[in-house]
Amino acid sequence: MSSPESALLAQVPTQLFIGGEWIDSTSGRSIDVHDPATGSTLLRIADASPADGAAALDAAVGAQDAWAATAPRVRGEILRRAFDLLQERVDEFALLMTLEMGKPLAEARGEVTYGGEFLRWFSEEAVRIQGRYGRNPEGTGRMIVTHLPVGPSFLITPWNFPLAMATRKIAPALAAGCTVVIKPAELTPLTTLYFARLLEDAGLPKGVVNVVTTSTSKEVSGPIIADPRLRKLSFTGSTPVGVALLKQAADTVLRTSMELGGNAPFVVFEDADLDKAVDGAMLAKFRNIGEACTAANRFIVHESVADDFAARIAERVRGLTIGRGTEEGVTIGPLINAGAVDKAHALVTDAVARGATLVEGGSAIDGPGTFYAPTVLTGVAAGSDILREEIFGPVVSIIPFTDEADAVAKANDTEYGLVSYVFTRDLARGQRLVESLHTGMMGLNVGVVSNAAAPFGGVKQSGIGREGGAEGIHEYLETKYVLTPDPFA
Ligand code: ADP
Repeated sequence: MSSPESALLAQVPTQLFIGGEWIDSTSGRSIDVHDPATGSTLLRIADASPADGAAALDAAVGAQDAWAATAPRVRGEILRRAFDLLQERVDEFALLMTLEMGKPLAEARGEVTYGGEFLRWFSEEAVRIQGRYGRNPEGTGRMIVTHLPVGPSFLITPWNFPLAMATRKIAPALAAGCTVVIKPAELTPLTTLYFARLLEDAGLPKGVVNVVTTSTSKEVSGPIIADPRLRKLSFTGSTPVGVALLKQAADTVLRTSMELGGNAPFVVFEDADLDKAVDGAMLAKFRNIGEACTAANRFIVHESVADDFAARIAERVRGLTIGRGTEEGVTIGPLINAGAVDKAHALVTDAVARGATLVEGGSAIDGPGTFYAPTVLTGVAAGSDILREEIFGPVVSIIPFTDEADAVAKANDTEYGLVSYVFTRDLARGQRLVESLHTGMMGLNVGVVSNAAAPFGGVKQSGIGREGGAEGIHEYLETKYVLTPDPFA
């Protein structure tokens, strides 16, 4: 490992962050965090026990009233300081994410920008939590509607965007006046630990943010979710885990936000600007090595342009550079672990067995590291697993369609509904698709939609609630209605 990497890792906390203190786990166990590009261990960190989880919730509960009473402007300014500090530490956060997650350094820097925007956006939203006041229709009283912090919140984040998934939850919670316990994914916990240190530097009071890292997520999370003092659960991850957590949350009628799986259709009409569609496809597919819930999973392309589209994508794929994300010019890093490689390969194998044509790639790359060759499949048959499951890897799967109704039917043929991408020059058709595709978000002639100022979220089994935008803060606010008598009566 080079010395900038060792120097950075030496600064990353390895303990739990509870009540403003860095403390050892009571489990006596530890987690080894790996570099997926080499398989080597980066750091050994604390592995929280259920007792540690309980202590973290105690700390969040203890800090709740004072944080809710803190002036919105003060809360906002702490978030703004965190944003400013992040700008000073872009290189460190980017390198740390590349090391623990594998994404190319340029993309990691992009995630620092994106993740940081949630801090800035919600620093601005903290002072814009507004209500209403007015006469009731009968004229006999005054109705007041106000918004109060929901209370201590538990945030569970995934490994694919280690910084942005944390800031997308922490920033609105803090802006709203909620304290939090955050549990990052055990595969990429370092960024959250390092971010907690940044929040300390930004002047965040003790106990407002608590971090528990654990290899036993279910055992540690269960008692936190069951505790009646917890008032909110926000989860980003797979649909099966989300469903299990929703069932647990039902016992205490917990407020939930769920950002779950996707199976995004990328629809290319015969009238599309094919150059732009190919550019959009490369972003929608290969950003983050395909490991994004917003990644295009099914390329649904009009039969008259499907071969041309596939040939152009294959040419671009041949120009990708695979390697460790820290290396200059690398555009495709490793997948997160061997399980991810096996899953991608199983989906490709199944598609080929059912008649798809393998145009490019189609195999794992020898280690060290867990790499999968960027792959292009055409003529993927209905019923193939790859059309139903999230690939979470660098695999383009192309299916032809005949007309708009066929495209819409194919695009909607999934239990997921996170995002769709549509490329067409026909304005009316684009507008029709906005309404006929069942997704919470749409990219119309663009391949990436994420923005801190926009409401991110899905319909159907892709989730409940929205993160970012004006909507994001309301996930952490309760609406309170008050009636008073007519003061003139
Ligand atoms: P992915 O497929 O992206 O790894 P998961 O849903 O498995 O998605 O994981 C997302 C987050 O949920 C991670 O932080 C993981 O540790 C956590 N997690 C997984 N299973 C559970 C569980 N039963 N209870 C609480 N958290 C869990």
